[in-house]
Formats: sequence, C-alpha cells, structure tokens
Amino acid sequence: MGFCPNCGTQVREDQDVCLSCGKSLKSSSVKKVAQEEGSTFGFAVLGFFIPIVGLILFLIWKDERPRASASAGKGALVGFVLGIVSYIIFIAILASAGFYAY
Ligand SMILES: [Zn+2]
Repeated sequence: MGFCPNCGTQVREDQDVCLSCGKSLKSSSVKKVAQEEGSTFGFAVLGFFIPIVGLILFLIWKDERPRASASAGKGALVGFVLGIVSYIIFIAILASAGFYAY
C-alpha cells in the first residue's frame, strides 16, 4: 500500500498510475537510477570486450559521467588483464603443442 505523491489518494503498489488524478506512480528518479546502472554495466561489458574503447570512454567521461566512466574503466581493466592472461595461455598452449609435435 502507498499513497499518490500528487493527490494523496491511497493506491496499490502494483498500480502504474493514480486512479484519482492519473499521475504516474513509478518514481522517475528510481527509473533514472536503474537506467544509469544498467547503462554503466553495459559500458563495463563493452570495456571488457574492447578494452581500448573502455579506456577512451573512461578518459572522456571522467568529469561528465563519473559512474559510467568508472564502469567503463573497470571493464577495460578486467578485459585488459584477462586479455593478457588468455594471450599467455594461448602462447603456452601453442608452445606445448609445438613441443609435443616433435
Ligand atoms: Zn493521485
């Protein structure tokens, strides 16, 4: 149970709009936060798969969008480290495969 922030009529939590005044009951601020989190996670994934793009986004968004920037930067860092690790593993597999071939 809740109350409409606009007119104070009692409303159910599953209602999208107030039946009395028609105002949307989904808080726009809550929605914005959720969207921001979703989008920053997307940037983390982007940075993870393409670390150079994550690094660029991290640098250009440092002041303007600190949260998106941090996500992109973290994703880029993780992607970069994993890239190096998988490269080393790849080389190790190649080396051992070459070794066993002889
Ligand atoms: Zn209302």
